[in-house]
Amino acid sequence: MATRPENLEQRVVDAAEAALVERQVVGAVDVLVGLGWLAPSQVAAWRQGRIETLEGVLTVSPAKLSAARRLLEQWAHARGLSASDAAYVARTPDRRALRFSESGDPGIERAYRTHWLSPELPAGARERLTERQRRPPELVVIAPLNDWACTACGGTGDLLIMDTPGPLCLDCADLDHLVFLSAGDTALTRRAKRASRLSAVVVRFSRTRRRYERQGILVEEEALERAEQECLEDEERAPVGVNGKSSVADARTPICASVSRRRSSACFRAVPPTTTSC
Ligand SMILES: [Zn+2]
Repeated sequence: MATRPENLEQRVVDAAEAALVERQVVGAVDVLVGLGWLAPSQVAAWRQGRIETLEGVLTVSPAKLSAARRLLEQWAHARGLSASDAAYVARTPDRRALRFSESGDPGIERAYRTHWLSPELPAGARERLTERQRRPPELVVIAPLNDWACTACGGTGDLLIMDTPGPLCLDCADLDHLVFLSAGDTALTRRAKRASRLSAVVVRFSRTRRRYERQGILVEEEALERAEQECLEDEERAPVGVNGKSSVADARTPICASVSRRRSSACFRAVPPTTTSC
C-alpha cells in the first residue's frame, strides 16, 4: 500500500493549506495531524512531556516522514511563506525543549520547529504571531478526578502536574508556594498572571464534555495581592462611561467583579467541580 509521490504531495498541500487558513501559520506537526499520521491527543501528550519523541508514536516510515517534510518546505517556498522558528517547550516543570525525531539530528529538529507564516498577514499581526510562537507554553496543573500518587514522593494532593515519569505533587514540582485563583474574573486573572514570575493554568477533565476545562490559575501570593489592590483602586476610581460605556453597571461590573470574593488560596477543594466562571 505504498503512497504514490504525487498523491502524498497533494495530501501534504491540502493539509498545509487547511492549517494556514485556520491559523495563518503552519508547521510540520500540523501537517502530520492533517495527514492523519498523528492524533491531536498524541501531540497533546508529547507537549505535556509524556512522550519522549514525536516520531516515536508515528507508524509511518522515516522515508515517508522525510518526504512529507520536504514537500511542506517546497510548498511553503512556492507560496512565498516566511519561515519562523517556533518554541516547542514541554509543559513540564523543567520546561525542557521538546524532541521531534528519533535521531535528534539538528537539521531535522529545525525542520519540525519551522513555522510558515502567511504572506498576506499585515506586519503587526505577523510580529504578534511570531512572538506568540516563540513564547513557551503555560504550565498546566491538573485537578485529578481519580486517586493518584506522586511519582517522586508517593504522596497525593488536590493538584498534580505531569512530568515524564508520571504525576508530581506541587511540593515535588516546586510549585507549592503558588495560590489558586479561580476563573471568572478576567481583569484580576490577567493582572495576577502578569505580576507573577511563575504561574500555571489549572484544568480539570469534564466527563460530560470529554475535554479539559480551565478552572483558574496558580500564581504567587504577592502577585495576587498586588492585582487585587490594582483592581480595587480601579473600582474606586472608575468613572461612569469608562471604556466608552455609558451605564454605571456596564462601567463597573467588568472590573474585577470578584475582588470582594476571597480567593480560595491553595485550598482547591473549595472550588465546585466544574466551575469555569463565577
Ligand atoms: Zn511529591
